[in-house]
Amino acid sequence: MGSATYTELANATVLTQPVYEPGKPIETVAREFGIDSAGIIKMASNENALGPSPLALAAARDALGGVNFYPDGGATLLREKLARRAGLSPAQFVPTNGSNEAMILLAQTFLRAGDEVVFGAEAFIVYKLAALLFGAKPVAVPMPAHTHDLGAMLAAVTPQTKLVFLACPNNPTGTVNSPADIVDFATALPPHVILCLDEAYAEYLDDAVDIRPLIAAGVKIVGARTFSKIYGLAGLRIGYLYGAEEVTALVRRTRQPFNVNLVAQVAAAAALDDDAFLRRAREVNASGLRQLELGFSALRLSYIPSRANFIVFHTHFATEVFDTLQRKGVIIRPLAGYGMTDSLRVTVGTPEQNTRFLAELRAILSRK
Ligand SMILES: *Cc1c(COP(=O)(O)O)cnc(C)c1O
Repeated sequence: MGSATYTELANATVLTQPVYEPGKPIETVAREFGIDSAGIIKMASNENALGPSPLALAAARDALGGVNFYPDGGATLLREKLARRAGLSPAQFVPTNGSNEAMILLAQTFLRAGDEVVFGAEAFIVYKLAALLFGAKPVAVPMPAHTHDLGAMLAAVTPQTKLVFLACPNNPTGTVNSPADIVDFATALPPHVILCLDEAYAEYLDDAVDIRPLIAAGVKIVGARTFSKIYGLAGLRIGYLYGAEEVTALVRRTRQPFNVNLVAQVAAAAALDDDAFLRRAREVNASGLRQLELGFSALRLSYIPSRANFIVFHTHFATEVFDTLQRKGVIIRPLAGYGMTDSLRVTVGTPEQNTRFLAELRAILSRK
């Protein structure tokens, strides 16, 4: 028998693949710092502080008794409902295990070594991970004022570019591009480039861009949406990709036969009808953003005005603030992984959570 390590046997891209660093779960922080989990608030991963959509929760509970059966691999009912609501065809939707999976499947479908993937330097890290995983070259375009520079992104496109990712609003910066600018950008891209518009926080906007006319016009654009954020279903892992039937049919070939679990399918379909919950989530978020902005101003901290359910603020003591907050049971998110070493991101919580976060923050900074 010869000798070979697993590492020697692994694919080259795997050896250099960076690891996504998620926000710590409440239970982990409780154990690490010896604090009661009931006193911990998680404002780290842009989850909905109001909990899951009540309609989704009821549907999920009902569905649990049937988990001895495989789910509908085609997620037929969910796709039909999404299609009806959007005025598109069910074939134009690919439900996925979180919209994260949608982006990985898109990468798997289209990327090979030598391809280039264009995205913003302060954009969601998953775009870079998706590129690297399939041997493509990540091309990170600087974001002046923390906002996607669509002109610079267009200029970064080469004959090798295959995919462009654009998040609106963007995570972690919370910034947006106008619908008109996004439409112009999508239309200006050459036909060998596919634009993936990441709409994870689109429900928080009242002027979100509508890409359906672009899809209908044959522009190479797909949308990625999620039930993890405003719908409050992050733990169930469900999102979807939508676009022209030609692209969704190709992407569908790369997914596992049962990539979306049974409970998630049912809960997501129910969540789509929960208008009251969505309205409340938007209201609580808008007032929470104002509360946090006022709080930062009172502490003389600058911040990036946000249109999503989180906000970035700046401090030279980012690491210390993050660590101390965590020890006090308030989990937020460091952004050093995005090269934003003087910045921290906090998810909008309930009014009480925002108040507690701001009070702990004030206490830490007053000792400086
Ligand atoms: C949270 C988030 C997603 C969605 O993640 P899921 O896999 O659906 O939970 C996608 N894009 C961005 C920018 C996000 O912040």
